Amino acid sequence: MSINKTPEKNSILFVWLNNYAGILLKTPSKTLVIDPVDVKAKSFQNVDAILITHEHYDHLDPPLLTDIQKATDCTIFADSTSAKKLQLAIPKDKLQAMKPGMDAKIGEVTVKAEKSNHPAQEPVTFIVTSEDNVKVYHTSDSLPFPELAKLGLKENFDVVFCTVGIAPGATPQTGFEIARLTKPQIAVPYHTATLDSQKEFAEMLKKDLRKTGCLIPEQNKIYQITKRN
Ligand SMILES: [Zn+2]
Repeated sequence: MSINKTPEKNSILFVWLNNYAGILLKTPSKTLVIDPVDVKAKSFQNVDAILITHEHYDHLDPPLLTDIQKATDCTIFADSTSAKKLQLAIPKDKLQAMKPGMDAKIGEVTVKAEKSNHPAQEPVTFIVTSEDNVKVYHTSDSLPFPELAKLGLKENFDVVFCTVGIAPGATPQTGFEIARLTKPQIAVPYHTATLDSQKEFAEMLKKDLRKTGCLIPEQNKIYQITKRN
């Protein structure tokens, strides 16, 4: 899945890649892939960085990452447990372990790790800030947690990805709660195999969170989101 288009100024493009948290994100200068599984390595070209949130099979696929890394020479930023699992396969200078609170630069794009409320070893969520300050929050499989409200106020998110299914405890309601706490411009329901769960999420937003728009993504389609003024 490559995006040949480049986003307009103050915008990002994204593609939802699988039934889980797989996202391809393109800023004007960089291409990032988050939690790729159930995809073909050769469909990724020109990847600058891969972000991995935790070690579960629907987020971490070491052979796939090895192949994408070899083909693109990208850097992998991973939670500590996943980084350990990857260290024999990925060149040392292309692998960085990320703990909550740490940030990293990919050119002018910033990636910051935050905590995750999910039963994995050392899971993280990622805030990506593009070179023109578009703010994307990939909350991985996380359930809501109180600090999200502070993050929302501080970061003024343009896009927040919200898990609405499959993960332990995750429902449209918990996804909605993440949106309610973070108050983004656009909330995107993902990590589900059913359109019904995404629609249920959208209904809750419409009813109780009027200022946040809902974008129900189709897999493998390109969406552009522009920074709010
Ligand atoms: Zn998952």
